[in-house]
Amino acid sequence: MRVQTPPRDVTRAEGEVIMPRNINTPDAIRRELERFLHRVQRPARYVGGEWNQVVKDWEHIPIHVALVFPDIYDLGMSNLGLAILYDVVNRQPNMLAERVFLPWVDMEREMRARGIPLYSLETKHPVRDFDLIGVSVPYEQLYTNVLNMLDLAGIPLRAADRADEDPLVVAGGSGVTNPEPMWAFFDAFFIGEGEEAILELAQVAHETRGLPRRERWRALARIPGVYVPHFYRVHYHPDGTIRQVEPTEPEAAFPVLKRIVPLLPPPVTRFVVPYVDVVHNRGAVEIMRGCTRGCRYCHAGIVYRPVRNRPLEEVLAAVDAIVRETGFEEISLLSLSSSDYEWVGELVQALTERYRDKRLALSLPSLRIESFSVELMEALEGGRRRSGFTFAPEAATDRLRDVINKPIPTEQMLEVAEEVYRRGWTTIKMYFMIGHPTQTREDVEAIVDLSRRVLDIGRKHLGKKAKIRVGVSTLVPKPHTPFQWVELASEEEMWEQIGILRRGLRGPGIHLSWNHPHETLVEAFLSRGDRRLADVIQRAWERGAKFDAWGDQFKFDAWMQAFRDVGLDPEWYARRKRELEEVLPWDHISVGVKKGFLQQEYIHALQGAVIDDCREYCYSCGILTYFKDLRRQVPDEAWGCPALGRGKKRQPVAPRPVPMYVNEEMSPELAAQYGPRRLQREKKRTPDPQKQ
Ligand code: SF4
Repeated sequence: MRVQTPPRDVTRAEGEVIMPRNINTPDAIRRELERFLHRVQRPARYVGGEWNQVVKDWEHIPIHVALVFPDIYDLGMSNLGLAILYDVVNRQPNMLAERVFLPWVDMEREMRARGIPLYSLETKHPVRDFDLIGVSVPYEQLYTNVLNMLDLAGIPLRAADRADEDPLVVAGGSGVTNPEPMWAFFDAFFIGEGEEAILELAQVAHETRGLPRRERWRALARIPGVYVPHFYRVHYHPDGTIRQVEPTEPEAAFPVLKRIVPLLPPPVTRFVVPYVDVVHNRGAVEIMRGCTRGCRYCHAGIVYRPVRNRPLEEVLAAVDAIVRETGFEEISLLSLSSSDYEWVGELVQALTERYRDKRLALSLPSLRIESFSVELMEALEGGRRRSGFTFAPEAATDRLRDVINKPIPTEQMLEVAEEVYRRGWTTIKMYFMIGHPTQTREDVEAIVDLSRRVLDIGRKHLGKKAKIRVGVSTLVPKPHTPFQWVELASEEEMWEQIGILRRGLRGPGIHLSWNHPHETLVEAFLSRGDRRLADVIQRAWERGAKFDAWGDQFKFDAWMQAFRDVGLDPEWYARRKRELEEVLPWDHISVGVKKGFLQQEYIHALQGAVIDDCREYCYSCGILTYFKDLRRQVPDEAWGCPALGRGKKRQPVAPRPVPMYVNEEMSPELAAQYGPRRLQREKKRTPDPQKQ
């Protein structure tokens, strides 16, 4: 048993003293669970056995993959990425995939006390028995949980300390598109979409088991999209910024280009159905991947390019199959910008006709603020108002929305609000960010003003029944976005701005939520950190940091003490303004978008220049440069990017981004060079079944 930090003994309330024992087989784990599971919160999180789980014969299937979501079951079971990989691996006759989640603190205490290693839900095998441990990391606040996971599994935290027999531990997901802060803890990172690569990773992990670790890393590095950080050396300037990143082995790609799938693979339909309520207890169909709108703060909008549409018939067939195979009463149709799905009107019309008389709730998140969205929601909800209506303008003035490239005019928003309340929704949820570049005090006060104007419209239609919920987060500049050079607002500024909002948005009918500046700071230094932060992360975990995304578990002091222990400065990482030419810690990782495009977009932000939806006009961001061969393989309508090749109707490709217009308030002299302000593309088609 190699769990590294079990307490020596635990004295239970009833006086029983438990000593850690040597529990390392599925049978022993099962027996031990039976002894105490009824005493922890929600035992169903820890037993598996759900409808549609896949249990294969461990002895006769050679390749074993543990798919880990480093948070509790309730969150992990709502993660579509994990469900996709589970489905892909388990379709292979020579492979099995099993799920692993972190225990909540009460269960962890019991496991450490009893010497139970982290195990898989399906067969209860210890995690360290698998060939490959694939860890999904969608956001940075999971970093300390990864260390906790490894420790509970009895696997050395640092990849360099692992034995040849230990599994390969590989991370993927949007939380590691800057892998550097976590470089020491993983054997490798996978950059991009893993539906095909997971099978190659599993094969390599199995075939190389027992070989010297560096040999195994070499085999991993040969897989396109895989970054083995141990094969790169980082050189620094005296001021702490990076001078150069240098590959040290012939297998080390430079840069490491993300991998994408040319067409969306068949959707998952046999979802594992939890016995307990989880965050999203529903089926999901990804209708579109990627987004063409180009909001400058948005990480997903860049890293998931290009846009790929799932054919309408495939979505409809998937919804039918999910209902049949899971019994879910809710299905979510997922994408980053649902209004932009090529056939969204037809989809809603077909689904409402098919499921009009059945108990099936359909949700279509991430709709744009336009009247077409109200019609879509009306059709989907069929007169039964289930949810609030969500607006995500992210900034409250026209000027600042131009800076972030989300140019929805205030007047349009108010007209849509009028429509929403008039049709009977009682609540509008509004999401804003503070801390955008060029933001002024007036921009923050405008959040209060706009929210109140929306509520006033609601009151006009519904009286006291009208409500608004305002969610405000602070901009955390993300790697690979046009805002990756922006400094995080100071804590003093954040408190001042939160104060304006709290004073302005109180009273009946209004609910305000906001992020604590300390949580924002931790996310900020982790997002744009370099590999020296690995020591800070380990120190913070040793000092008790884990479940950093859970407000009641968050330990800011552990983080600050960890920085002091290691001799680094969190402010330098979070609040330093980066120069455009600085070598950034993630520059050798390419998500298919050129740094020059991001630099140009950052300059446009400071000018207040708006660029159009790139389905209207391709700005040559890099995707078609890196993936032109894939583009040629797929049908014209399958991607948002222009089709390439002889005889194709080509859209113009700009040598560099050309603004659609420049905000006169910011750049009067530049504004003269561009045409008048005009709106981005709106959907024209109507899905209203009443009109059919
Ligand atoms: S290549 Fe052109 S159309 Fe494709 S994502 Fe980039 S800017 Fe948009």
